[in-house]
Amino acid sequence: MQNDCIFCRIIRGEIPCIPLLETDDVIAFMDIHPVNPGHALVVPKAHHPTLFDMPSECGAAVFDALRRVGRAVMQGMGAQGLNVLQNNSAAAGQEVPHVHWHLVPRFEGDGHTLWKPGPCADMQQLQASAKAVRALL
Ligand code: AMP
Ligand code: ZN
Repeated sequence: MQNDCIFCRIIRGEIPCIPLLETDDVIAFMDIHPVNPGHALVVPKAHHPTLFDMPSECGAAVFDALRRVGRAVMQGMGAQGLNVLQNNSAAAGQEVPHVHWHLVPRFEGDGHTLWKPGPCADMQQLQASAKAVRALL
């Protein structure tokens, strides 16, 4: 727990949220700036800034909540699809440095685009990128 972390403060009940689910390890609540109606967040209770700081053992509880809340968000909102999104570090758009997952229900024709695909890759460049990554695995 971090004193000044907004999600830790929500978990401690110091800041209100609109709750969906609370388990021993995870909470889920409505995002205050919804991309679409029903946009929810799944947040592990333990404070870890990013996915890479979080122990793998926490993953099962998160996965469980993503599936449970995600299904309910989709059905409850009458959505046709759902994006699960997770940002790591400011460069990737992370605003709250307490690891969390977005559940964004999607509706046919809602006009949202996650990202614009780049041009077809140069195979040599793909090989070079893969080599750099494989060397670290
Ligand atoms: P990220 O950019 O992945 O760090 O996303 C942080 C998300 O937290 C944003 O979508 C915010 O709208 C949401 N958020 C920030 N503060 C609150 C809050 N007090 N209650 C609910 N959602 C929040
Ligand atoms: Zn925190």
